[in-house]
Amino acid sequence: MIISKELFINSLKPFNITLTDEKIEMFDKYASLLIEWNSKFNLTAIKDPDGIVVKHFVDSLAVLSENKLEGTLIDVGTGAGFPGLPLLIANDNLEVTFLDSTGKKIKFIETVLDELGLFADTVNARAEEAAKDEFLRESFDFATARAVSNLRDLSEYCLPFVKVGGKFISMKSAKTDEEIKDAKEAIRVLGGEIEKVNSFELADCGERTLIFIKKVRPTPTKYPRNYSQIVKNPIVSRETK
Ligand code: SAM
Repeated sequence: MIISKELFINSLKPFNITLTDEKIEMFDKYASLLIEWNSKFNLTAIKDPDGIVVKHFVDSLAVLSENKLEGTLIDVGTGAGFPGLPLLIANDNLEVTFLDSTGKKIKFIETVLDELGLFADTVNARAEEAAKDEFLRESFDFATARAVSNLRDLSEYCLPFVKVGGKFISMKSAKTDEEIKDAKEAIRVLGGEIEKVNSFELADCGERTLIFIKKVRPTPTKYPRNYSQIVKNPIVSRETK
């Protein structure tokens, strides 16, 4: 094993998450592929096995502490597979679609899926384009995104994928109060409503925040707009314009 099983098990304890030996071995294989590929392509800045265990695996799984994820999930801007791949490995009742605009990251995910004997869909596209596809739009129970963009722009990328009644879960490491304030109008316009905001300590790595946004109405068809419109003309309320 290249990862420390003890570190993994102990770091999951505060979240009341347990994994079978078989699943821990799958995580170990994933970590070794990540390290191998990282020596050729820059997939992630975190390269040491302990860092991968805590900052990638445990951070991705922490959402399971108080929430059951069952059904379909799209991981937007998944990069090297976070949080989507840990969630897929840990959950037998979750179908995951991995989306990223970078081809080599999607190739890496496909390699890990093959090596671990897992099945999942992959999409190599920009989120704002893929969300117009009738097979992807409003068709997921969950959308997740970690370290992709600010919450306002991210809501425009992610909420169109979520079914009414489903949830967009944004995973953040920094303070989120300002970001949430700046995103409120966009979330409303896009058919969402903030359900809850959960903060937790990730081992010695500082605070993390999970923002749960419930889809309460369909997203108007004009959204998502293209990237330059999202950035140049963000959705803000009339008073703050
Ligand atoms: N979610 C991963 C994580 O937490 O480690 C990756 C984070 S990385 C900083 C951001 C990823 O989002 C990159 O892989 C990038 O290619 C992807 N990305 C950024 N904007 C995107 C967009 N509009 N559509 C699809 N992917 C996007």
